Amino acid sequence: SIIVGIETSCDETAVAIVKNGTEIVSNVISSQIESHKRFGGVVPEIASRHHVEQMTVVLEEAFEEAALSWEAIDAIAVTEGPGLVGALLVGVNSAKALAFAKQKPLVGVHHIAGHIYANRLEKEFEFPLLALIVSGGHTELVLMKGHGEYELIGETRDDAAGEAYDKVARMLKLPYPGGPQIDRLAAEGEENINFPRAWLDEGSYDFSFSGLKSSVINTIHNAQQRGEERKAADIAASFQASVIDVLTTKTVNAAKEHEVKQVIVAGGVAANKGLRNALEAEFAELSIPLLIPPLKLCTDNAAMIAAAGTIAYEQGRRSGLDLNASSSLLLK
Ligand code: ATP
Ligand code: FE
Ligand code: MG
Repeated sequence: SIIVGIETSCDETAVAIVKNGTEIVSNVISSQIESHKRFGGVVPEIASRHHVEQMTVVLEEAFEEAALSWEAIDAIAVTEGPGLVGALLVGVNSAKALAFAKQKPLVGVHHIAGHIYANRLEKEFEFPLLALIVSGGHTELVLMKGHGEYELIGETRDDAAGEAYDKVARMLKLPYPGGPQIDRLAAEGEENINFPRAWLDEGSYDFSFSGLKSSVINTIHNAQQRGEERKAADIAASFQASVIDVLTTKTVNAAKEHEVKQVIVAGGVAANKGLRNALEAEFAELSIPLLIPPLKLCTDNAAMIAAAGTIAYEQGRRSGLDLNASSSLLLK
């Protein structure tokens, strides 16, 4: 089947066309990062306005790039949540209008299902599989026993990993988005500060990054008060070491416990070089195949929404024209 995907949950306006859930026919992304940079984060009202301005442009480009007409399209998949509600609404309403005008089935997709299915554009899934989702808004471990079946076995109790990166970057006065900046800086620094690791209860696959974040703030303040110099690169390296240690250890433990055949990493933080290296080393040793999408598919895009939407469509899932955006949609 050939599916159009639409994604507007945050600050990327994206439309893509995907064949059989595995092959990208076109993938167009209009990023608003530049518009939000001077505010140090995404401003919801600005995001919505950008989506409205960009939607038709991006849509046309996706069809042009694909050299396809609407006749070839089987269904429209759209991110219904979670995300910024005003931003989501632009995608959802565009998808509904198109479904009605072009008389095509409509399929609502969970944004995180999209991040997971970004990997299927590279390699076929084998179940059971474990997905580590690390993004700006999510840090989750999801166990999948089949296509479209999502079992949440761990999640963050406070900040998401990407959020922690962005906040620590702000403390170090690095530009937004901070994740890539810290990643770059960490490679130049030394892990000479022993930041805490939040393991939580024995056997828990939940995460917590707020203690780590406070510890970084304290370290910076204390150094300032004592007039000592703390290299930003060392703080970045030590912070990153703590995040990677916890993410990697919990993912390895969950993969072993559930005897998974594949481990998938998804979300913007999957772009992190330190995390990639650590996971690659661990899973090579365990001989469990590890999939990490190429950078372009790690961050928000619509090809991943079309890929997840393909499975939902093929499983007979349909949304009505009463589909609504949900900022806190659960993955199920
Ligand atoms: P969600 O998918 O949960 O709705 P989001 O769409 O904002 O959130 P993504 O676009 O998947 O998240 O990822 C953006 C996040 O990834 C940001 O927090 C950014 O700092 C982080 N990030 C991107 N590259 C890196 C990197 N190399 N190292 C660490 N973090 C990174
Ligand atoms: Fe995302
Ligand atoms: Mg984003």
